Amino acid sequence: MSKPIVAIVGRPNVGKSTLFNRLVGSRIAIVEDEPGITRDRLYQDAEWAGRVFTLVDTGGLDFVESGDIPRQVRRQVELAIEEADVVIFLVDARAGLTSTDEDVAALLRRTSKPVLLVANKVENFQRTGQLVDFFRLGLGEPIPISAAQGMNTGDLLDRLVSVLPPVAAEEGEPDTIRIAVIGRPNVGKSSLVNAILGEERVIVSDIPGTTRDAIDTYFEREGRRYMLVDTAGIRRKSRIEEAIEKYSVIRSLRAVDRCEVALVVLDALEGVTDQDKRIAGYAHEQGKASVLAVNKWDLVEKDTHTSRRFTELIRRELAFMTYAPVVFISALTGKRVHRLLEMVDLVAQQQCLRISTSELNRLIRDAVLHNPPPADKNRRLKILYATQGGVKPPTFILFVNDPELMHFSYLRYLENQLRAAFGFEGTPIRFVLRQRD
Ligand code: GDP
Ligand code: GDP
Repeated sequence: MSKPIVAIVGRPNVGKSTLFNRLVGSRIAIVEDEPGITRDRLYQDAEWAGRVFTLVDTGGLDFVESGDIPRQVRRQVELAIEEADVVIFLVDARAGLTSTDEDVAALLRRTSKPVLLVANKVENFQRTGQLVDFFRLGLGEPIPISAAQGMNTGDLLDRLVSVLPPVAAEEGEPDTIRIAVIGRPNVGKSSLVNAILGEERVIVSDIPGTTRDAIDTYFEREGRRYMLVDTAGIRRKSRIEEAIEKYSVIRSLRAVDRCEVALVVLDALEGVTDQDKRIAGYAHEQGKASVLAVNKWDLVEKDTHTSRRFTELIRRELAFMTYAPVVFISALTGKRVHRLLEMVDLVAQQQCLRISTSELNRLIRDAVLHNPPPADKNRRLKILYATQGGVKPPTFILFVNDPELMHFSYLRYLENQLRAAFGFEGTPIRFVLRQRD
C-alpha cells in the first residue's frame, strides 16, 4: 500500500529540520546502527493515530547551486506541490512575515492539495498576537507550535492526519509483479523502460477501480504479468517533468512504496554516487527486493576483469545490499535486458520464501554452536527460539533472553547463515527481537 507523502517547506532557518526530527521522533534510532547507508534524513516514515506517512524535509534537497534563496525555496515548493499529498508550510513567528513567505504562499494558494500553515517558535502562547500578520497569506489560521520544545505538535499531527488522503486499496492484481525503475536523472531509466516495453507485450490496462492507468504500464512476458510503477514521468518527458526528474528523490520514494521489486539503475561511466546510495538505500529500508542494473555498459572499454571490478565497487559502495544481483546492461542496444527481467522474477520469488520453523531452528542452533553470541558484563545472549513472521521481506522473529545483548554484527552473521542456506537473493532480511525469560 502506498504511503502518503507529506512535505515540509519554508525558508531556511524557520525550523524545518527541527520539526522533521520532532515528528519522526524515535523512528530514526531503529535503523541507525546499520552501517553504510547514506542517511541524510531527508525523508523518514512517521506514524500518528495509526496512519503511516512519509515525511520529507525539502530543505535538505538543495538543487540550485547559486545561493539564490528565494529561487531555491520556490523550487522546493514546486516539487512539493507536484509530488506530495500534503504540504506543511512552516513560517517563523519570531522573525515575522517575510517576502519569501509571501512568494511561497502565492504558489501554495494555487494548489488543490491540502496545505497546513504552521507558525514555529511560538514558545509563549500568551503572545499569539505575533501571528496576526500570517493571516495575510490567505492560507487560513496558522497553527502555532514550538518544534524545539515539542509544544502543540500533537495538535499539528491531528490536523495532518485529518487531511491525509483516504487509504487506497491494494493496487494491481495478485499475480502481477510490480517493478519500480529508479535512479538518478540520465542513468537511462526511460531508455530502459522503452527497451523493456519494445520487447514485451504491453497490456492495455482494464483493471477496474484503478485511476492510475495512465501512470502505470502493464506488460506480459512468458505468460507472466508485470507492472511498471509510475511510468508517466519516465516515458513521456515534458520539460516540466524533466525539471522535476532532477529532484528524483521524492519520485523514487513514491515508486518504491508501490513496488515489490526495485530496479536500481546505475550509470557504468559514473560509478556509484551518493544519490545512488540514497535511492538504493530507500529500497532497502522499505524492505523491497532489488536488482542493480549497471547501464550504458556498451560505452565501457572492457577487459576480462572489468565486470568483476565494477561488481566489487558496487559491493563496497552499496555494502548494505550485497544481496542484490548485478546485471550489466545496455538499454540502448537491449543487451541483457532479458537477463534483467529474469533476475526480477528470481528476486520476486525469493522475497516470498518461507522457511519451516524446524529448519530455521536447526540452522540457528548450528550457527550459535559454531559462533556463540556476544556476552556483555558476564551475561550472554541466548536465542531460545525462532520463527518466520512474514515475507516481503522475509522477517524472522527471534525470542531471546535479553534483546539488549544482541549486536548488529551478530545479526549480520545470522543473516549470512540464512542466505548461505536458503538464498534469499535480492531481498533484504529483517529480524525482530522479542524478550522471553
Ligand atoms: P531549517 O533551516 O528550516 O531546517 O531550520 P532548523 O531546523 O535548522 O532550525 C533553525 C534554527 O531555529 C535552529 O537554531 C533551531 O534551534 C531554531 N529553532 C527550531 N525550532 C525552534 C523553536 O520551536 N523555537 C525556537 N526558539 N527556536 C527554534
Ligand atoms: P533517465 O533520465 O534516467 O530516464 O535517462 P534517459 O533514458 O533519458 O537516458 C539519458 C541519456 O543516456 C540519453 O541520451 C540516452 O540515449 C543515453 N543512454 C541511456 N541508456 C544508454 C545505454 O545503454 N547506452 C548508451 N550509450 N547511452 C544510453
